[in-house]
Amino acid sequence: MRVRITEYLDIDLAAEEWRCNRCNAAMGDARESYKKGCLIHDRDPREVHFPMGPSKDFNFSFDPKWMRIVEFYCPGCGTMLETEYLPPGHPLTWDIQLDIDKLKQKHGVTSAAPKKRPRPITAGAPAKPKPQPKPAIARKKARR
Ligand SMILES: [Zn+2]
Repeated sequence: MRVRITEYLDIDLAAEEWRCNRCNAAMGDARESYKKGCLIHDRDPREVHFPMGPSKDFNFSFDPKWMRIVEFYCPGCGTMLETEYLPPGHPLTWDIQLDIDKLKQKHGVTSAAPKKRPRPITAGAPAKPKPQPKPAIARKKARR
């Protein structure tokens, strides 16, 4: 079962995996950011916003020491999926974080989680509760 999340991103619910909507390329664990499965281009902002005017400091562009343009592409077909403006060295943002279990429930997907992420076994009889110590008052009465 595939669910469209954005114009170019789907989730394969049974496999819990991000997929490119255009070429079906697998792009990583759906419980993680799809950006981890993308090709990333860290661009100098002056390539996009050309400096204009005579001033070196006030030119309608960004200082590349303060701002980078980070582009995300599908590794299969090269479709641009997202663009961000981030300070250099900033970690990638996690802009789409979905409740995969709820999505699976909504779409009736009952497949087990992928093997790479084992889950605790919940089937079978519930564990026996630990015997609780008797209160001190009850023990005293029992001795009489
Ligand atoms: Zn693609």
